[in-house]
Amino acid sequence: MKPCSLYVHIPFCKSKCAYCDFFSVVCKNNIDDAYIQKLLDEAEKRAVQFDVSAWNTVYFGGGTPSLLTAAQIKALISGLKAVRPIAENAEITFECNPDDITIELLHALSENGVNRLSVGLQSMQNEPLAIVNRRAGRAENLRAIELISKYWLDSPENDRADVSLADSAHTKHRFSVDLICGLPGETCESFFDGLDEVIHCGADHVSLYSLTLEEDTPLYNAVDSGRVELPEIEETDSWWIKARDILEENGFEQYEVSNFAKKGCQSRHNMTYWKMQPYIGIGAGATGTAGSLRYTNSRSIKDWLNGSGEEQEVLTPDIQKFEFLMMGFRTLEGADISEFERRFNEKIDVIEPVFSKWCKKGLAKRTKNLLALNKEGLLLLNCFLKEIMDFFEKE
Ligand code: SF4
Repeated sequence: MKPCSLYVHIPFCKSKCAYCDFFSVVCKNNIDDAYIQKLLDEAEKRAVQFDVSAWNTVYFGGGTPSLLTAAQIKALISGLKAVRPIAENAEITFECNPDDITIELLHALSENGVNRLSVGLQSMQNEPLAIVNRRAGRAENLRAIELISKYWLDSPENDRADVSLADSAHTKHRFSVDLICGLPGETCESFFDGLDEVIHCGADHVSLYSLTLEEDTPLYNAVDSGRVELPEIEETDSWWIKARDILEENGFEQYEVSNFAKKGCQSRHNMTYWKMQPYIGIGAGATGTAGSLRYTNSRSIKDWLNGSGEEQEVLTPDIQKFEFLMMGFRTLEGADISEFERRFNEKIDVIEPVFSKWCKKGLAKRTKNLLALNKEGLLLLNCFLKEIMDFFEKE
């Protein structure tokens, strides 16, 4: 038996953001308790299937987990602990919409052992937030930051948090913010004003994404028909690079393509994906991967509740090798050579010609055990991966 990371999918949102192509359904009222019960049933089933001894990290993502009531949060987390213990000092992350943050929600999360909030602010300005149909505007974002500062970062529970509690997994309360660079309605000045507010809001982690225009989303259609105009891509690319540098000057070190953290505050849960360690996903539309098996649950809530519609894929050794490299190269730490050799019982030589070329261009570096792109190389990650993929296909 081994410990494993757990992802809990809550695929419900009060309204849909115009750029979003994640799987979530609109839910105007409370989430049904039947969904919570089924999550616990699935946790039990997967724990047995994958021989799990404990939950290493837990991540409640969505959708919008902050739509759960305090009673549902309690039932869900205590139920997960009853299935398998949560490892001592495990990172337990909960995604929140700023509009849902209340003193009661923060208390419910803290009391049940959640120690990391991930809050999708996305922008600090009303116009971009309104154009992409975010539920929270500037006032709601500011109110969320104030409540988090007062009742999460400075809470009495947080003062006690370094003391391990017998049945829980408390570490210091942490706080991560998501921002999107290049939203319509954002200007250079408004974007950097917002970044400055985020840097000083008490967060220890920032995910800085570039807007991607996904086909068949309302934003894609609005841009396509000329109803909405995006800032120029060359301009927003330069904003992103400047924002990266500002974050770093302020102690947020880049450790992955889009992720920045103060010392010791990297997302441990997401690191399990980037290191291709096993994880279990539960909930409609969730995915899990362990060794060569990957399963994906049905995106139909009804089918998932009935226990049907699961798909399984057996990952060939070549797919596993490519994914190991693809995920490893997303991080500044890079791909671990000895881990590759241990897992696949072969040398990593297959990518040597591509990697050497990128080293010569000053975009990659090799240390004893690691192959990694540097910060400038990471800006061209997709080109690098394409070259690696071409090599795998030629082999
Ligand atoms: S809240 Fe998140 S998951 Fe829901 S529609 Fe918006 S971006 Fe998508």
